[in-house]
Amino acid sequence: MTARTRWRPAYIGVGSNLQSPARQVESAIGRLTEIRQTRLVRASSLYRSAPFGGIEQPDFVNAVAAVLTRLEPDALLTHLHAIEAASGRERDDARWGPRVLDLDLLAYSDREIATPGLTVPHPGIGERNFVLLPLGEIAPDLVIPGLGRVAGIPVNMDEPSISRIA
Ligand code: AMP
Repeated sequence: MTARTRWRPAYIGVGSNLQSPARQVESAIGRLTEIRQTRLVRASSLYRSAPFGGIEQPDFVNAVAAVLTRLEPDALLTHLHAIEAASGRERDDARWGPRVLDLDLLAYSDREIATPGLTVPHPGIGERNFVLLPLGEIAPDLVIPGLGRVAGIPVNMDEPSISRIA
């Protein structure tokens, strides 16, 4: 780490549908402030949405946080996984299944990353309203590589309803 390492913007999706989901999401956003070389800039409102993917499970609560970070994306993701683990999440949770806490690196500066462990921008931005709506609340002018300006990305009309709760 040199003194010249730049602060770069990153956007983190936060979701939970177990063990007081709203509290889990708020607490995870609070824990983002504890990541080294990283500053929490903004957090969206909380949004509630019906579960997706045909599994019987509680509603989800989602939000998006904006940070500035000097960490590289893989190092930032390692910290996100540590916050998930501290919440009691088991990493083998079913895809679209219930989870205490899910943290996704949605976007990192203008980078495009496609490695086995990391896809950035996160595909959920263009596919899931529970990502797009809170991201649009805090960063409508953000340009997502491959998708354009967040405010211009269409919402998915086939998805379960989503409402702002706090
Ligand atoms: P999930 O069940 O959504 O938490 O998926 C977690 C897995 O997705 C982890 O093994 C991550 O390495 C991988 N992954 C790939 N791209 C991303 C990303 N942009 N943010 C978070 N996890 C990612």
